[in-house]
Amino acid sequence: MKNRRDFLKLTALGGAAVVTGSLIQSCDTDKTKGTAVSKQDNKNKPIQKPVVISTWDHGMQANIPAWEILNNGGSALDAVEAGVRVVESDPNNSSVGIGGAPDREGNVSLDACIMDHKGMCGAVAALENIENPISVARKVMEDTPHVMLVGKGALEFAISKGFEEKNLLTEDSKLKWEKWLETSKYEPIINIENHDTIGMLAIDSEGNLSGSCTTSGLAYKLRGRVGDSPIIGAGLFVDNEIGAACATGLGEAIIRIAGSAIVVELMRHGYSPTEACKEAVERIIKIHGKDAAFQIGFLALNKQGEYGGYSLFSQFNFAITNKSKNELAYTEYNKEWT
Ligand code: ASP
Repeated sequence: MKNRRDFLKLTALGGAAVVTGSLIQSCDTDKTKGTAVSKQDNKNKPIQKPVVISTWDHGMQANIPAWEILNNGGSALDAVEAGVRVVESDPNNSSVGIGGAPDREGNVSLDACIMDHKGMCGAVAALENIENPISVARKVMEDTPHVMLVGKGALEFAISKGFEEKNLLTEDSKLKWEKWLETSKYEPIINIENHDTIGMLAIDSEGNLSGSCTTSGLAYKLRGRVGDSPIIGAGLFVDNEIGAACATGLGEAIIRIAGSAIVVELMRHGYSPTEACKEAVERIIKIHGKDAAFQIGFLALNKQGEYGGYSLFSQFNFAITNKSKNELAYTEYNKEWT
């Protein structure tokens, strides 16, 4: 892991990149906080495309197939599906897809959603025995008049669409769960070092945006618990006129503020991607105060291809791939508590 100095260096560089990419045209005062809030004027700005960003360092492996699609002129929708599938299918990743940590009863139950540039979306929640819930979510979007299927119904739907059932509890995650059972302390802490949900946002060469989000949720969660990740507006939101956002961290806190929808709305009102993510984190702080001993991270990508992120605590990183870079960066975070 990066040490603090490296981290600060990266934050400073990442921050600079974001700020230059979203030059402030005017500065309004937000009356509720008395702080200056920059307002972007995006008209006439050149669009930087294609771009793909995704949460945590597993984003680096996810961005590879996503970028291949984007760089070959493919759609953002295909890119965000193909990208996160890689992480879902990685048995060594303990927070997404196969190998994901089970609930407290030992069932691996997965949540995912996807949203395209036409405002169409699909989701599955509490889906078991299917390795790639993101592709089932896409089928819900494309082949049904619905947005979300859950539990047994989602599984039956997946099987009807030809998805193969398989055991998702790997030996390693079973051993860890058995260890947890020794104390079975129910402490849904989203830690700072582990790499959690994958959320991915992309803009393609046509300038269309799409996003995806997929997770096994909190380790050892209550059976049936669903977090923000499959909830459109919480774990993910896309508005092709404005931008897209996704979230990671303690789902309950993200749902309480309709996190990703809020980030996109703030961008509609002129916030840069980083500022919008920061404001969403501040709303969570307002609700939870100093009890917010959990990690939250938002990423956002606007219609101009500018991106940014913000987290409650340090160490939230994300992968960026565009024509000039393919790298991991750290977001800015709420420094008052660190
Ligand atoms: N947001 C996910 C959830 O609450 C967890 C995570 O991002 O790690 O289910």
